[in-house]
Amino acid sequence: MLGILAGRRRQRDDLFDRSFRSCDDCGADVYVLADGCRDCGNVLELQAG
Ligand SMILES: [Zn+2]
Repeated sequence: MLGILAGRRRQRDDLFDRSFRSCDDCGADVYVLADGCRDCGNVLELQAG
């Protein structure tokens, strides 16, 4: 039971990490589905995989 919960939590974190990428300009964490960086306005190209 505990193992299952821990596995779900780890998987959730991995998905969360993959949902963000670093801004090429300022290095800020930018949500992959966002139009661009919130900090500097740099528009990021979507990367598959
Ligand atoms: Zn930026």
